[in-house]
Amino acid sequence: MKLLEYEGKDVFARYGIPMQKRAGIVKIGESLDTLKLDGPGPWVVKAQVLAGGRGKAGGVKLAKTAAEARELTGKMLGMQMITHQTGGKPLTVEEVLVDEACDIAREIYISVVLDRKNSTPMIVASAEGGMSIEELAQTQPEKIIKLPVDVEAGLLDFQARQLAFDLNIPQKNFREFTAFARQLVRVFIDEDASLVEVNPLVITGDARLIALDSKIITDDNALFRHKAQAAKPDHEASEIEKEAKEIGINYIGLDGDIGCMVNGAGLAMATLDTVKMAGGDAANFLDVGGGANVDQITRAFQIILKDAKVKAVLVNIFGGIMKCDNIASGVVEASKKVKINVPLIVRLEGTNVKEGREILARSGIKIEQAGSLWEAAQKAVKAAR
Ligand code: GDP
Ligand code: MN
Repeated sequence: MKLLEYEGKDVFARYGIPMQKRAGIVKIGESLDTLKLDGPGPWVVKAQVLAGGRGKAGGVKLAKTAAEARELTGKMLGMQMITHQTGGKPLTVEEVLVDEACDIAREIYISVVLDRKNSTPMIVASAEGGMSIEELAQTQPEKIIKLPVDVEAGLLDFQARQLAFDLNIPQKNFREFTAFARQLVRVFIDEDASLVEVNPLVITGDARLIALDSKIITDDNALFRHKAQAAKPDHEASEIEKEAKEIGINYIGLDGDIGCMVNGAGLAMATLDTVKMAGGDAANFLDVGGGANVDQITRAFQIILKDAKVKAVLVNIFGGIMKCDNIASGVVEASKKVKINVPLIVRLEGTNVKEGREILARSGIKIEQAGSLWEAAQKAVKAAR
């Protein structure tokens, strides 16, 4: 799950990571009066969307007075934002965070990522943080520091100190920094994150160390041990994805027009690739699970067809533990319950495949069968055109 900046900062707060004082969060339709703007200011008004690069897209604004902070917040709510990370698609700003602004002397980049090659967490950092980190990584990769971390031990003291030296942290902030870096790694490990990023970590004009921004992505597969997090809304999920999750179907919406129903995540990925190779684009990833019964197949059809983009449905099921004749009956039953008004292509393989294909052929339902995944993908692409 991707956390909004303020949600990430709420997590940071639990780990004692130093941050700016918060004036409040306002959602669309809520009163601006809840903002606590009684200090001297200035404030920083920040669009809470799941994309970086807000600064460059008008999603981060400084306000000198309380009146200005309220005005900017009001204007930002409901705004459509395109940043270099939204892939050209606008995001609606539904929530705005207002923090007490700080004055920035230095911006540092620091994150903890999963190093798949090493099978460890890894700190990625740069003395030159801020809004152009992607550019820096391209043009001067030698300025990016990478430090593997032991997942059991966390960041060791000597490592934290080495990192502080490498980042040129001022003597005065040394202890603050090493404590911060160790806590950042703790967030990554204890929250089962796949990314924890602070860009920028700032040193203020009055020599304080502050996490100015937060980006946290948590691993959905570990949500069961983070009950509070699991109960929160997934801002990234579409309405269809939320519904699928509720009924226990593994569904991710995509941009194409071929709906896919597959059993097993690996086979589902292979199906998307094959559709692509055949010149088409899948409308979704969907894993009906191993024990695909009539109910589950019915629900899967309903979910797939909720997406108005879908012009053909490709069913690719391998009967291993489940036998193909049972699956075929499931597909037939399900297609009686759900009105499938687009071409349906089915590829069955595995145990009792002959019986399965016969059931589909005799069903009287308009189903185009395919002997192989490649054939099925080609048929689906053709049908969708
Ligand atoms: P992002 O562009 O989406 O990563 O948003 P950030 O929260 O990182 O803010 C972008 C930039 O706005 C930062 O790199 C800072 O330069 C600036 N900024 C954000 N908050 C403050 C603040 O409190 N004071 C000042 N002076 N600048 C800020
Ligand atoms: Mn940032």
